[in-house]
Amino acid sequence: MKMRGYRLELKLNQSQRVLCAKSAGTSRFAYNWKLDKLISEYEANKALAIMYGLNKVPSTFGSAIDWHKDWVLLKTELPWIRETSKCCGQEALRDLEVAFKRFFINKSGYPKFKKRGQRDSFRLTGSVYIASDYVQLPNLGKIRLKERNYPILEGKCLLSQATVSRQCDRWYVSFLLPETVDVPDLASIESIEECDILGVDLGIKELAITSEGETFENPKAYKKHLVKLKRYQRMVSRRVKGSKNKQKAITKLSRIHKRVADIRNDSVHKLTTSLVKTKPKVIVIETLKPKNMSKNHKLASAVLDSSFGKIKDTLKYKCAWNGVHLIMAPAFYASSKYCSVCGHKHNDLKLSDREWTCSYCGTHLDRDVNAAKNLQYLGLWMIDKHSPSGESTVSSTGSDACGDERLQFLTEQCSSMKQEFKSQNHALHLECEP
Ligand SMILES: [Zn+2]
Repeated sequence: MKMRGYRLELKLNQSQRVLCAKSAGTSRFAYNWKLDKLISEYEANKALAIMYGLNKVPSTFGSAIDWHKDWVLLKTELPWIRETSKCCGQEALRDLEVAFKRFFINKSGYPKFKKRGQRDSFRLTGSVYIASDYVQLPNLGKIRLKERNYPILEGKCLLSQATVSRQCDRWYVSFLLPETVDVPDLASIESIEECDILGVDLGIKELAITSEGETFENPKAYKKHLVKLKRYQRMVSRRVKGSKNKQKAITKLSRIHKRVADIRNDSVHKLTTSLVKTKPKVIVIETLKPKNMSKNHKLASAVLDSSFGKIKDTLKYKCAWNGVHLIMAPAFYASSKYCSVCGHKHNDLKLSDREWTCSYCGTHLDRDVNAAKNLQYLGLWMIDKHSPSGESTVSSTGSDACGDERLQFLTEQCSSMKQEFKSQNHALHLECEP
């Protein structure tokens, strides 16, 4: 049993739209109200900690339940709070508690104030129901879904909670539903052959190329919308502050930003679904460091326009859902520098060399397909090394017997890589998802 997340767009009428905005506003107010109070308390504690030479600032904040008592008292002072569900304040305080807990265990920074219009959202608990064409929420009542008749939502289903959020001028509801998944264990897979492993090379020109030679286009959404973005940005900055026209221009600009994000999301989902749908047993991808890559100014915007991080995260959970094991190749593995036919390493390969000929065996290679193939080999080698039986999967395919040159090379390339990994003193990291 696993919980699967859903995020569906809502079709609100005018009064619901107002109420949603109010609820998000109340939620934000509760969060900022308590955060503001706690800052002075934290500063006082910090001063005490310094005075007594403590290496940790003591937490005397109490819990969200304590805070909620003050929040209830505030309701008589500020009657507009009652216009929205009681959950808005309650859940916001819970979020703040989590934010502080994360801060005190050094998992994240000091909680920040929420800003109006940025990530507006609120969470509701209690009698939350979802059906194929509507969602029923406390205080808001039945709200129609923009897209209806989801097969998974047949019949009315009680949820423990749901979050309503705004992106640009659209509202969404997100929730979790339990689902059974069948995930095979890597150890139970008896033999893995080349065809069971899919190497995926992520790139800028094309979003991804697989070891099977399949290519996925990069929509380069940001680059295509750059002119429009610049024009609308200018429009926003020229309007008078606080005016209605400024607000209109901001909405127009944020719609373009949303469009760019939507195009990116769409291509990422198409790519990852298609990779998982071919049902390989293992997928091998590179560990790209977009932060390092974007230091190259010529590449920066293109790298960020390719959303590598999102591909990785999406692939991670989709693999877990479909029982595919995901291997992240170590960042130093030069997947594009080896010849995938003979294993010769070409150290002088430039980023601009899209196609090249191996000086050792004379094979003409496409840079990206070659890299994807090498990732596939790496996966085979890594599984071989980590297989619990210790039996070499490479030899189990009969490479020694039939003398298949490529498999022979595989073992050679892999063992030469083993040397290299050792010399770099990196522990190999096999990520067995889930
Ligand atoms: Zn070669």
